[in-house]
Amino acid sequence: MSKESKRREALVYHAKPKPGKIEVVPTKKYATQRDLSLAYSPGVAIPCLEIEKDKENVYKYTAKGNLVAVISNGTAVLGLGDIGPLASKPVMEGKGLLFKIFADIDVFDIEVDTKDIDAFVETVKNIAPTFGGINLEDIKAPEAFEIERRLKEELDIPVMHDDQHGTAIISAAALLNALELAKKKIDKVKIVISGAGAAAVSCTKLYKAFGAKSENIVMLDSKGVIRADRQNLSVEKLEFATKRKIDTLKEAMKDADVFVGLSIADIVDVPMLKSMAKRPIVFAMANPDPEIEYNLAVSARKDLIMATGRSDHPNQVNNVLGFPYIFRGALDVRATKINEEMKMAAVKALASLAKEHVPEQVNIAYGETKLNYGPEYIIPKPFDPRLISKVPPAVAKAAMESGVARIQITDWERYEEELME
Ligand code: NAP
Ligand code: MG
Repeated sequence: MSKESKRREALVYHAKPKPGKIEVVPTKKYATQRDLSLAYSPGVAIPCLEIEKDKENVYKYTAKGNLVAVISNGTAVLGLGDIGPLASKPVMEGKGLLFKIFADIDVFDIEVDTKDIDAFVETVKNIAPTFGGINLEDIKAPEAFEIERRLKEELDIPVMHDDQHGTAIISAAALLNALELAKKKIDKVKIVISGAGAAAVSCTKLYKAFGAKSENIVMLDSKGVIRADRQNLSVEKLEFATKRKIDTLKEAMKDADVFVGLSIADIVDVPMLKSMAKRPIVFAMANPDPEIEYNLAVSARKDLIMATGRSDHPNQVNNVLGFPYIFRGALDVRATKINEEMKMAAVKALASLAKEHVPEQVNIAYGETKLNYGPEYIIPKPFDPRLISKVPPAVAKAAMESGVARIQITDWERYEEELME
């Protein structure tokens, strides 16, 4: 398909049969005057008073408990950069569609016209009563770090910046499996992280939680290796500064076991790839074009395990494997936050699902004959119907065990059945 026909296809998809991708649908009867007098005045006053008496009743009588806000100020949209709140709306509506189809979660997309951290935080706090959870989206680093930190502290509903943690969770699951296949230990491997933005920082923190050692990590930003002796480093970058006296990606790549790219296209060349250790792991996730092109990399190293952010190659690190199910689990136990334990539980659930026998309907959905755990299949595929029954229970359990769940699930079999309905 030509570039122009792809463009037309995307525009027609968004414009027809009516503009946009989501709408609001009533969930109660509305045929008679009696229905309307319950839906609105005077009947509606009764639940209002119940909620005024006990605020937990809001979960019983309103849609709050299944409603997530996808909120952006449009400052770091996809790979498009700072295109502003209005132009970010198709992305936020798209995220709403994904929440709905994969986890039956309803979404209001909210586009906020401010780049000011205080104003943004204030806006989200003021509208938070409406929602059961907050998914922050496509907000530029470093502002995104402070916005998320403050909202997590100040709100009692789950808040997650998906560009940071979604990517971290999916790539960590892929990393655990890739390491297992390469017969390497996470606390021994040398890791190069290209990029020090929202995604890279959060990924590296999560790899550390799984055992990666600071002294084995080299991180780079647009100015080169982040060294401890570099001036004016942000707190986020300082955490990953290396004591090694190296300056370039080329030096960092020599004998490295793992390369994680969350930066820009085409910065890794074949000689760098060849200088890596045996059975190297390369997650080149810059979108739309990775740090090294897939076919170039796999033809240069036969012992490579590779993942990208793209759907046209094996091992796509796709955030849709995470956010619908993480919020589903968090909402179902009315968690007050999404904490490290819950994220790690999601990682383990995804990693272990990739090792199970793949159902025929997944092979068919991807035009494959037999997807099988191995270098070209280290993470589940988005259309795997088992995700909904595996990931939310793991997240919900972790929320309960870590003490952030406000309600407890006791019958797990029944919960899993409900998830599949
Ligand atoms: P971001 O916050 O803007 O961070 C980009 C980072 O890349 C910055 O730290 C920047 O350095 C660094 N950088 C720029 N040029 C570089 C170079 N030549 N060498 C090394 N680092 C360089 O963006 P983000 O949200 O973290 O996303 C980064 C990339 O990852 C994007 O391409 C995005 O599409 C992709 N991504 C993919 C997935 C996925 O596949 N699932 C998920 C999330 C993000 P400075 O700090 O010096 O500016
Ligand atoms: Mg995003």
